[in-house]
Amino acid sequence: MTRVALVTGGSRGIGAAISVALKAAGYKVAANYAGNDEAAAAFTKETGIPTYKWSVADYDACKDGIAKVEADLGPVDILVNNAGITRDAMFHKMTPAQWKEVIDTNLSGVFNMTHPVWSGMRDRKFGRVINISSVNGQKGQAGQANYSAAKAGDIGITRALAQEGARAGITVNAICPGYIGTDMVKAIDEKVLAERIIPQIPVGRLGEPEEIARCVVFLASDDAGFITGSTISANGGQFFS
Ligand code: NDP
Repeated sequence: MTRVALVTGGSRGIGAAISVALKAAGYKVAANYAGNDEAAAAFTKETGIPTYKWSVADYDACKDGIAKVEADLGPVDILVNNAGITRDAMFHKMTPAQWKEVIDTNLSGVFNMTHPVWSGMRDRKFGRVINISSVNGQKGQAGQANYSAAKAGDIGITRALAQEGARAGITVNAICPGYIGTDMVKAIDEKVLAERIIPQIPVGRLGEPEEIARCVVFLASDDAGFITGSTISANGGQFFS
């Protein structure tokens, strides 16, 4: 039977590349998004992948959204927790709202999405949960206390759930991308990118969304059944962990 994959933030950037690659690998794919209706409609038109709007920061909305996806496509076998935001500020200037928004989306979002699909995966004795963390969750980044904390938390929940899911056939892994050329990175000042960020990347370039998508396709496959609790670093050699 064709497996069903749900990708959060799956209509733009890295998530869009993941949705497309999973579809090409033969899965039935649903892409969630938060608010950019125009991008989602264009994505569905181009790829044929259905899009579903809700915020991963809202537990009840996740439960309802997942129920709709499952009614349309079938039970979710592969969950890719990709949705994420930045609200950067040096810590002395960071507001409680900036802290909370990033934690709610990038960390609690992983709980909110994984919890509703977990029992079904346990019952069916198969599941793949793939969490998109970040190099900045591994090493910490000035100006991103909120983002670094959330992304480090994503690695923590990955390792805890890997242990809980193992006997039930569920693998849980994290991918830590380095700087990838999406809207999130294009929002960084061009001069800062060229003079401060790219020189820190040994391969000398930004990563491509498709390079992260290929890691996801592998982790989703049966071939990756013995890999759980792992963190794949895909960062052009910027940081080793
Ligand atoms: P983009 O900003 O290009 O896209 C983000 C996607 O997430 C959009 O589809 C957006 O929806 C969705 N999203 C944002 N907030 C929510 C929410 N509350 N609920 C549901 N969906 C939401 O990001 P990237 O593709 O660059 O990043 C994808 C992931 O990879 C993120 O987790 C990010 O932290 C991580 N990452 C990115 C790196 C990079 O260099 N780009 C590096 C390391 C990690 P909408 O279209 O509606 O706005």
